[in-house]
Amino acid sequence: MREPRDRIAQVRRLCHQLCSSSCVEEKRQERHKELLQKRPHWSVHKKEEQFRQIALGEKVPFDISLPLPARDEREGSELGVKLFWERFRCQQCGLCCYTPGAGLILEREDFDRIASKIGRKRLKSLSRYDKTIDAWILKQPCPFYDQNKRGCKIYEIRPQTCRKYPLHPPLAQLPYNLAVDAFCPAARLLARETLEWWVICESHWAELLARMEQSGEDSSSPQDGRDDR
Ligand code: SF4
Ligand code: SF4
Repeated sequence: MREPRDRIAQVRRLCHQLCSSSCVEEKRQERHKELLQKRPHWSVHKKEEQFRQIALGEKVPFDISLPLPARDEREGSELGVKLFWERFRCQQCGLCCYTPGAGLILEREDFDRIASKIGRKRLKSLSRYDKTIDAWILKQPCPFYDQNKRGCKIYEIRPQTCRKYPLHPPLAQLPYNLAVDAFCPAARLLARETLEWWVICESHWAELLARMEQSGEDSSSPQDGRDDR
């Protein structure tokens, strides 16, 4: 018999493999409203507490897991990321660009792309080389942020990290869900707006768990959790 924690981890993995496309569609269709009418859920009862936690991101750096599936190696698995970008509304505050911090790592392609436009010498003067990671790091606040126009001076050729921001790699506790930087106000707003979507995830998890129990523990077979909702 597996430990409850292992079973939950397995259910989440199966859910990611088998249900992620249907769950994205259910969230787009706002199925959570129907589920919440049927039963109580922490996302409603603990809403204020959760909102207070989310608000801490303004001052304390941490990541928030969103109820959307993370992309993986499978074709078509970017649906969660797609819905994220459909809903995400950047507030153009520039906080992610001009807040002093550790600096922004330039991938080799980023370095070459930007250097081909502004020159290697100039880009090196705006960065520092970190031997330990063998990469150039843009100085902070970012030298490409235009305070007057409130925008990026190299928007078309900006680094990969900037293109993905505020998406961060998934959290260890929720490895199959998207994670965002709580420092970004638009990400915090989206986390608040999608809090009730967790009821859809948990409904899928509960259904898979029931199927696993019925079929005698190991339900790694897709027939038990096929994506037919
Ligand atoms: S911190 Fe977030 S809302 Fe502000 S500019 Fe960056 S991505 Fe947009
Ligand atoms: S390169 Fe552009 S988008 Fe990236 S941090 Fe600098 S100003 Fe912001």
